[in-house]
Amino acid sequence: MMLIPRRSLLTLCLALAMPLIAQSAPPATVVDAAALSDQKQGANWLAYGRNFYEQRYSPLTQIDTQSVSKLGLQWSLPLPRDHSLLGTPVVVDGVMYFSGSWSVTRAVDARTGKLLWEYDPESIKHAGDRLRIMWDSNRGLAYWKGTLVICTIDGRLIGLDAKTGKQRWSTQTTDPSKPLYISGHPKVFRGLVLIGNGGTEFGASRGYVSAYHITSGKLAWRWYVVPGNPADGFEDPSQEMAAKTWTGEWWKFGGGGNVWNGITYDPDYNQILLGTGNGSPWNRKVRSPEGGDNLFLCSIVALDADTGEYKWHYQTVPGETWDYNSSMDIVLADLEIEGKTTKALMHAPKNGFFYVLDRADGKLLSAEMFAKVTWATGIDMKTGRPIEAEGARYEDGEELVWPGPLGAHNWHAMSYSPKTGLVYIPKQELPALFNDTGVKMVDWRSPYFGMDTAVDMGLGGDVPANIASSSLMAWDPLKQAKVWEVPQPEYWNAGTMATAGNLVFQGGISGEFAAYDARDGKKLWSVNVGSGISAPPITYEVDGKQYVSLLVGFGGAGVSLAGGTALSRYGWSYRAQERQLLTFAIDGSKPMPDVGAPVVPKPIVPADFKVDMELAKKGSDIYTNTCVICHGAGAVSGGYAPDLRASAIFATPAALKAVITQGTLVPNGMPQYKDLGDAELEALQHFVRAQAAAGAKATEAAKEKEKTAAQ
Ligand code: CA
Repeated sequence: MMLIPRRSLLTLCLALAMPLIAQSAPPATVVDAAALSDQKQGANWLAYGRNFYEQRYSPLTQIDTQSVSKLGLQWSLPLPRDHSLLGTPVVVDGVMYFSGSWSVTRAVDARTGKLLWEYDPESIKHAGDRLRIMWDSNRGLAYWKGTLVICTIDGRLIGLDAKTGKQRWSTQTTDPSKPLYISGHPKVFRGLVLIGNGGTEFGASRGYVSAYHITSGKLAWRWYVVPGNPADGFEDPSQEMAAKTWTGEWWKFGGGGNVWNGITYDPDYNQILLGTGNGSPWNRKVRSPEGGDNLFLCSIVALDADTGEYKWHYQTVPGETWDYNSSMDIVLADLEIEGKTTKALMHAPKNGFFYVLDRADGKLLSAEMFAKVTWATGIDMKTGRPIEAEGARYEDGEELVWPGPLGAHNWHAMSYSPKTGLVYIPKQELPALFNDTGVKMVDWRSPYFGMDTAVDMGLGGDVPANIASSSLMAWDPLKQAKVWEVPQPEYWNAGTMATAGNLVFQGGISGEFAAYDARDGKKLWSVNVGSGISAPPITYEVDGKQYVSLLVGFGGAGVSLAGGTALSRYGWSYRAQERQLLTFAIDGSKPMPDVGAPVVPKPIVPADFKVDMELAKKGSDIYTNTCVICHGAGAVSGGYAPDLRASAIFATPAALKAVITQGTLVPNGMPQYKDLGDAELEALQHFVRAQAAAGAKATEAAKEKEKTAAQ
């Protein structure tokens, strides 16, 4: 045996290690507050809105107004078990992470699409009755120092090892006995992760947000959006202040305010900016019968990021009564206002106004309508309050109000380009007919795992084609004015992304994914992906090559809530088209995957079934309380879940009973309703058959009209 002196062994080891060090890749990115504040690096897409600033703006320029015409498919990953895909992936050092349907999470090689690992949180198994209030939607995940944080519809927050996909911890953030869900994305900052939840429409819900330690999943702080019963004492001074703006016994109805989206961490002031939800129930006459602003509903609230302590708020809709939550994204930017650089936030919530606020103190700097608005005529800049239009609160019976509950802008993220100074908004125009004349104001009770908002908006009826409109709109936040607008079909067009290549990318319901010149809206490139698009795109760079990625899987609760013929005519069925993760690059030459043809639902109209209209009316009420959230207004599916008018299950009472009361399709995500008896099932069947007959008749009439027009 040869003896090697200690010193030379060390030298040998160092000599062997040297070439390895010399050849290794650049140092791995540490995703911390510094990385998430860095707006200049473009290789990684580190968070939901790319970084803390939520601008969805990339400094990458390889793909620009000139080269974009050569953009082609580089790789695709088929996702045959997914349905709704709404998420924003994150990319860290050439690895892409994304959450699909039911929050199934995957890591892939961002250059090739090769699957590295997959983690299934088994959301359906955990969800139980929460399947009744939200289906497979999930909008994204968060990354912090090697830990990936995902959330599930049943309210869990889960920390994963980003390298292996192994679970590190799991925390239940909601009371499982309550109708609360998470479809949103967690937000990370300074070692904490913040999450809220949804559920305003499905129970006596009191909104809150919770911050957990990323290393352990242990609770750090919690803040309630609305005050509880004063007799129980207030959690903090902000609750006492808020309680003065409520009347009656609001706590019996929960109050609402659930933060289901729209959480921004502001690194400049170390504060959390929350976009809060609407009231529970929607109708203020029930919730707070003597009036009041009802803080902190429909507001932007700033909290100290370390303690959760209240700092300031701005309420967009005092005394909310139309579901105009402020849950839309909150974008941070330095804006030159009156000759000084202001750390501003930009916010375009459902209510149709575009707001610019000073993040130092929440002072309103400007607000203008960016869409058709009839509930208010403007914002009083002295008080910061909206000037409400007469009759808008449906005091005198039926009232047609713009925007409707789906809002002039919903969760589909907007983007902001510091280069053009413009905000790119997925805008939509869809009114609603509010009517509470049939609502028992005094004896009204909150629903429990069903939908009741204490105001009727006609969800039992179809949404016909062309009743809505939408657009990609470029908005100047300084002038508070539209710069350009590209019309998009129907509504629910997807989130946008802006780049330093002077491009804006967006997909939508028609299945077209396009790039526009950020300066004038000229369409420079587009591709048909063969299926409706609900998710926003991202861009990143690996080994000097820029990529653009997009999840394709039409869905989300808004698709069903309005649903109707407006969306169903495209034929994006919840299971007909194979879902995809698509990635494009310059000179990408792969053919687009064949995902399957559109399938427009064909309503079944059995000759021997005689609809009892009395029963159908009863069935309509049951439908809007239990089925509409997934299966669509008027039983016309927008593609989120099967179209019941075309379903064989509705053919026989035995099949209905098996699926609805006995729960035979629970493993697929169809909830069980033990509480629905034979009489209720029969009423549902008559409603669905009536809607099927009406749908078939409308199709015939449309065909006749086409024929006449052709002659
Ligand atoms: Ca709502």
